[in-house]
Amino acid sequence: MSKSLQAIRGMNDILPEQTPLWRYFESTVARLCDNYGYKQIRTPIVEFTELFKRSIGEVTDIVEKEMYTFEDRNGDSLTLRPEGTAACVRAVLEHGITGGGQTQKMWYIGPMYRHERPQKGRYRQFHQIGCEVFNLDGPDIDAELIVLTWRLWGQLGIRDAVKLELNSLGTSESRGRYREALVEYLSAHLDKLDEDSQRRLKTNPLRVLDTKNADTQAVLVDAPKMADYLDDESRTHFEGLKARLDAAGIPYVINPKLVRGLDYYSKTVFEWVTDKLGAQGTVCAGGRYDGLVEQMGGKPTTGVGFAMGIERLILLLETLEQVPEEISRQVDVYLCAFGEAAELAALALSEKVRDQLPNLRLQINAGAGSFKSQFKKADKSGALYALILGDDELAQQVIGFKPLRGQGEQQNIAFDALAAHLATCVVQG
Ligand code: ATP
Ligand code: MG
Repeated sequence: MSKSLQAIRGMNDILPEQTPLWRYFESTVARLCDNYGYKQIRTPIVEFTELFKRSIGEVTDIVEKEMYTFEDRNGDSLTLRPEGTAACVRAVLEHGITGGGQTQKMWYIGPMYRHERPQKGRYRQFHQIGCEVFNLDGPDIDAELIVLTWRLWGQLGIRDAVKLELNSLGTSESRGRYREALVEYLSAHLDKLDEDSQRRLKTNPLRVLDTKNADTQAVLVDAPKMADYLDDESRTHFEGLKARLDAAGIPYVINPKLVRGLDYYSKTVFEWVTDKLGAQGTVCAGGRYDGLVEQMGGKPTTGVGFAMGIERLILLLETLEQVPEEISRQVDVYLCAFGEAAELAALALSEKVRDQLPNLRLQINAGAGSFKSQFKKADKSGALYALILGDDELAQQVIGFKPLRGQGEQQNIAFDALAAHLATCVVQG
């Protein structure tokens, strides 16, 4: 027997019964981004490998071991995007849309690819929605991004389950001085560090701070703190952000060990975390990356943004039972027709109704069937009403209208009056 075909490990189908929740989530975020003045950008899923090496950093988990990299037929090294910021930076540079200091506020959505160990909340193809802002350097815009996500949690009904963690990594100068102090301290305790941290101490010492190793964590308790190394500029920026979060009534905790896994961050970094999903608790993460555009070959251009993991947020909605009931109902009206003549009339009639009610979700029974079987399908569809058309109704140019969820009596409606009648009883989204 031949081996049956399967999806790639860690890459999931999102089946028809799951997509209503995805679309509800995605449209909620999209509307919010629109309302705050962000415009969508769509970039290719594949980029030159060099882009990610240069932006994310060579000595990061993503670039070292998680990228899906392959050779194109003409020998170029290409990579399935592991995140969205790099492509946004490339795109604004390539099209010169930030070059004169113009502000850009943008958002994106789409699949990302990382070769990680698949587990709950961690996949090899996963989806992110993110925002990026270019050429605004004040803490007001950092605050706006956080306020936007806070509003989202409110709209989704998950505010109580997420917590905001905040830190400042400072400017590259203050981070440089901090790095020196940290390396000096950790080098004095080298023998107590786990192997990974020993290696990172040489390549990317700040990453030692987010180690999961208990012995290394113990060493870190007395390590120098970034907060003590912030220069005035970074300190003022951070205070400005905190003042705005306070003004907006958004609770946060300062986490001095929050460093983020990507190299490009500076000043603000933040994560929204939940304790409801086990180990994969970060649902949204972001920060400021003021040096990145220049590092990628552009003029000095500040940047700040975040990305949220859609799978984790969907899991959270399900875990907290915050899936709105109405999103799973996809049909308003189910039309049953009996016999060839009625079927033809039903098709013509329903097209007329659709002309007048473009948002009506009208499903016509396909595949004929007895009264009983069509009615069963009507009920199973979730429709609020059934329409019934047989020879008798056809002769009188009327259609039977039957509430399926106990709202009122069955009645006959004249063909001409059907659209108007449906308009009164179906709430159209
Ligand atoms: P983690 O620490 O969980 O690995 P990360 O720091 O690598 O996350 P980012 O690169 O900041 O994550 O991505 C932003 C968000 O995207 C994460 O907070 C998470 O919600 C989601 N995410 C990241 N990697 C995955 C993955 N492999 N599967 C599902 N969601 C993911
Ligand atoms: Mg990761």
